[in-house]
Amino acid sequence: MSPKEVLAYIRQREVFTVDLRFMDFPGVWQHFAIPADSLTEATFEEGIPFDGSSVLGWRAINEADLLVVPQPETALIDPFASRPTLTMICNIQDPVTQQDYTRDPRNIALKSVQHLLDLGLADDCRIAPELEFFLFDSVRFDQTTNQAFYHIDSDEGSWNQGSAGAGNLGYKPRSTLGYFPCPPMDSLSDLRTEMAQIMGDCGIATGAHFHEAATAGQGEIDLLPRSLVQAADHVMLARYIVRNVARRHGKSATFMPKPLFGENGSGLHTHLSFRSEGHSLMAGHNYAGLSDLAMHAVGGLLRHAPALCAFGNPTTNSYKRLVEGFEAPTKLAYSRRNRRAIIRVPVHDPGPDGRRIEYRCPDASANPYLLFAAMLMAAIDGILTRADPGEPLDRDIYELGPEELDEVPGTPRSLDAALDALADDHAFLLRGDVFTPDIIDTWIWYKRQHEVEAVRVRPHPFEFSLYYDVG
Ligand code: GLN
Ligand code: MG
Ligand code: MG
Ligand code: MG
Repeated sequence: MSPKEVLAYIRQREVFTVDLRFMDFPGVWQHFAIPADSLTEATFEEGIPFDGSSVLGWRAINEADLLVVPQPETALIDPFASRPTLTMICNIQDPVTQQDYTRDPRNIALKSVQHLLDLGLADDCRIAPELEFFLFDSVRFDQTTNQAFYHIDSDEGSWNQGSAGAGNLGYKPRSTLGYFPCPPMDSLSDLRTEMAQIMGDCGIATGAHFHEAATAGQGEIDLLPRSLVQAADHVMLARYIVRNVARRHGKSATFMPKPLFGENGSGLHTHLSFRSEGHSLMAGHNYAGLSDLAMHAVGGLLRHAPALCAFGNPTTNSYKRLVEGFEAPTKLAYSRRNRRAIIRVPVHDPGPDGRRIEYRCPDASANPYLLFAAMLMAAIDGILTRADPGEPLDRDIYELGPEELDEVPGTPRSLDAALDALADDHAFLLRGDVFTPDIIDTWIWYKRQHEVEAVRVRPHPFEFSLYYDVG
């Protein structure tokens, strides 16, 4: 839609409120609403001022003002608002310079795509993310022990952790349901269908949805490939839909990467492909039918994988997912079938045009704008330097001896380690001023100060089990 069409649509649908959304630095959608009749064509040029100091990781209080600039092509009617409400995703600008604000994650994503076009390597980078999440009936945090208790899933409140009341003492579906049992065991099927249908109404094309492998309450909805910035917009909109459908049914959704010890975590596997003039640039005569360009992209993603974790696995909890035994990747390698490798090359794809690489490392807590931009920059670096991805890891890691296994480098073991890797390796992100030194510094500072240190100084629930009776 153009600005004119948005204004006409507002009148036609009798929209009362326009809800303006933007992404903060750590990765949470923020919003404020304005009366629909205050929106004019000029608003799309000039933006609307707001106080940027209240947004995490943005302005200091003395230089607080920023502008939100609504993007008309993102306009849609909010499916959850009780009054007619039109939402739009916004870019952020500095009111003094009228320049795009460098710490706006969406701006970083837009710049990464522009950089790809400027280099002439491809005219489109397509991204297809797999959304994984948990649905819980309720979560209670015990303030005295910091312990969280969960009632998971409407499998009749079947599974609970800790001592949060008796739960359901009657019928319980057996545990470790795996992916595919039909309802009634998969009691969340209808909810996922509702989510996928609303996504479709909002212009998000979805593929399969299913119960994921965790005991109960884990779901996956796959999104079809879209251009990079739209794919990131869709991740945010899809998360919003997942959370709001869950709430409508008295549940809560979480994209926390590893909510439950001993169960699979939630990833954000991301399929990436390059196209030019409508054709894929991924198919060729190398391993798994990949082109030279695709092999170099794999080389770039592998080379920069530890630094990429700072954006794709950006929470202290992320590293509780990247462990052996839960189908999450742990090895910096690529393979067509070994899912312990961070990069998979899907083989049963719909012909050469569907050839792509699947980056399995990122998790559901990632800010998709920063993640997709950083992935693209790593792939570009690999292509420009003709990076060699080395040999694929095609044997099951469990078949490898301990020494062979040690030779394959692993994913970082903590957020702290990933931030160290980013501090050492970020020149590839600075090309074309896509990321700036300020963005890298602020990200590392923010994550260390507000998350790594904040967690480090707090007693961990498991320490009570280990140490309560010690000494
Ligand atoms: N949920 C798993 C992860 O953490 C993967 C399981 C799967 O999708 N095969 O990446
Ligand atoms: Mg999947
Ligand atoms: Mg999955
Ligand atoms: Mg996958």
